[in-house]
Amino acid sequence: MEDRFPPPESVLIRKLERSAPQGTKLLLQGHFELASKKHTAYFIDKRVLLTRPHIISELSFYIASHFYSFDIEIVVGPALGGVLFSNWVAYHLTQLYLSASRESISHRFRQREVLGLFSEKRQKKMVFHDQFVRLLQHKRVLIVEDIITTGGTVKKVLREVERSQGYTQGVGALWNRGLVGERELLEGSKCGSFVFHSLVNKNFPTWDKKDCPLCKEGKIPLVNFHKPDTRAVSS
Ligand SMILES: [Zn+2]
Repeated sequence: MEDRFPPPESVLIRKLERSAPQGTKLLLQGHFELASKKHTAYFIDKRVLLTRPHIISELSFYIASHFYSFDIEIVVGPALGGVLFSNWVAYHLTQLYLSASRESISHRFRQREVLGLFSEKRQKKMVFHDQFVRLLQHKRVLIVEDIITTGGTVKKVLREVERSQGYTQGVGALWNRGLVGERELLEGSKCGSFVFHSLVNKNFPTWDKKDCPLCKEGKIPLVNFHKPDTRAVSS
């Protein structure tokens, strides 16, 4: 079993950058429009991040270890990245609970499989399938997200967990690039509190379009990877 504590943030970032398969880059430099519509000079390509199962497994293990004592029953993540990520975190939580000593964990969680679910984007919401809604009812939930910029997606998932009568215990992320805090994620939520933990907290400035210095300069074309026909990559 791996060490339950992640390496220091700088080591982790280097490791993630080196994990990009040959010919690809995890961190792209240029002029990008993010899903939040904000502009930035750096883009963390989660597609690249998700190409190496053993890296995702290791990162998910650190998240699972952090939330191990919260008696999590269901892990949820927003599609697409969250489909993979929630499954890996659920897998490691299950392994940790199975190997837990009798004293270290409440008896109802021993021998229980933690489920990994996902929410899907529909009309600006992050909804759960009807069958998932039934599963979530009265369950202790961990929300996971790969990269957090504004926290908007996590807030949508949080709202849907509430609507499904699940109890969010925490939010785990791989990279908090907007340095979003717990309080911001809780805005507009009925959930009293939870623990927010991100493995990497490294900020890259983002700007509204009207304030973007790269737009003003006009030298680097804008790239939006969220549009399916975008192929241009500047590095
Ligand atoms: Zn711009």
